[in-house]
Amino acid sequence: MANEVNWSANYAYRAQTIARPRTISELQELVKQATDASPLRALGTRHTFNDVADPGSAGTLVNLAELPATVEIDAERRVVRVPAGLRYGDVAIALEQQGWALHNLASLPHISVAGAVATATHGSGSGNANLSSRVAALTFVDGSGELVTLRRGDADFDGAVVAFGSLGIVVELELDIVPTFEVAQTIYLGVPYERISQALDLAYSVSVFTDWSPESINQLWVKAAVEAPAAEASVRELGATPALHKMHMIAGQDAAATTEQFGAPGPWHERLPHFKLEFQPSAGEEIQTEYLLPRRHIAAAVDAARALTEQITPLLMISEIRAIAADSLWLSTAYSTGDDDWADGAVAFHFTWKREQAAVEQASALLEAALAPFGARPHWGKVFTDAARVPGLYPKFEAFQALVEKYDPRGVFRSDYTRRLGF
Ligand SMILES: Cc1cc2nc3c(=O)[nH]c(=O)nc-3n(C[C@H](O)[C@H](O)[C@H](O)COP(=O)(O)OP(=O)(O)OC[C@H]3O[C@@H](n4cnc5c(N)ncnc54)[C@H](O)[C@@H]3O)c2cc1C
Repeated sequence: MANEVNWSANYAYRAQTIARPRTISELQELVKQATDASPLRALGTRHTFNDVADPGSAGTLVNLAELPATVEIDAERRVVRVPAGLRYGDVAIALEQQGWALHNLASLPHISVAGAVATATHGSGSGNANLSSRVAALTFVDGSGELVTLRRGDADFDGAVVAFGSLGIVVELELDIVPTFEVAQTIYLGVPYERISQALDLAYSVSVFTDWSPESINQLWVKAAVEAPAAEASVRELGATPALHKMHMIAGQDAAATTEQFGAPGPWHERLPHFKLEFQPSAGEEIQTEYLLPRRHIAAAVDAARALTEQITPLLMISEIRAIAADSLWLSTAYSTGDDDWADGAVAFHFTWKREQAAVEQASALLEAALAPFGARPHWGKVFTDAARVPGLYPKFEAFQALVEKYDPRGVFRSDYTRRLGF
């Protein structure tokens, strides 16, 4: 194999081989044979934009598609057991058939569960913590080839869920489930910048889309649980008007790919993502960057980003702002000790760029400098430039490094990405 690329083709993996173990013992054997000079890294559905999944030119990517894949619902414990490589969209369909749901989904259902969880992937909603926060247990083959299961409450659990493949290759996860629910999505236009924070609390899941043009944000996507609709008066207060045509958040893209709008109720998994499973999400030829910062700094951070409009607009397709509840997973981008700046949650500033790598890196560096005063943490799976600063943004980073030593003492999951982070 050569020149395998990620989903958006902005990154070519340097690893020259892909292993496809068919059993867990084959996977354990593969890990035992690996060394720090011939490392491994798990590969999910390739929807990251940087080298987080790449073990390097002497390494091997590990794809789990050929492992047995069964989805098992345990109604009593309210968890679903899923194979690591399955897409969230497929898990959702299996759950819905039996009257169950996940609390939230990312903007796209096309991503693997393990890959999404490993990078702290999030959806939206000030009451919704990220997808990793709903992991109840995970089973992985560690760097010695041993099969390890960690459950919520175990000493190492909070450090092991968001680990971007650095502790082992996850083969199975248990996710919390809730009874199925219906959601209605409505898109509004014309919301002023000053109302963004208020808008984010309007309903179960809300996304603000903007190209930072001076007048107002471009679109407000409101996904309300049918049982808790957004109050008419609150919508009016925002000065928002409902969209009259089906919308895509990126100008010029076909709205057929986006989930149903105009307030039509439907199952959670067909409304919470922005994109339908059977269509290509987003633009395709793109690069993404995203920074999460404490919710309490949102107004100042919006001003800081708007001050860069002139530099970033020529490269930008669209930005998205979302609220995410705090959690206790050590390397989660919404991690909070409970009494720090992050205690009332995070807000994510996302940028979908044209696929121009060097220019995107320059723009990202500008944003990183502008958002640094707020303690902004980059999304683990998107482009960011200042890796040296990242460990200092996580109070438990050293404790995480100790877990790396414990579960990967031979360094078989190390890579250029981890070395930039200091391990
Ligand atoms: C169009 C688009 C929209 C997006 N929307 C969102 C969004 O709404 N919210 C958000 O937060 N992000 C979003 N992302 C980013 C994406 O969800 C994350 O980057 C996620 O990690 C992708 O999962 P993957 O399986 O495709 O990743 P991969 O690139 O395949 O892997 C990501 C990481 O997970 C590790 N990994 C994968 N499988 C395993 C395993 N079995 N065991 C251990 N480690 C493993 C890999 O080694 C790597 O470090 C979006 C990306 C795209 C392309």
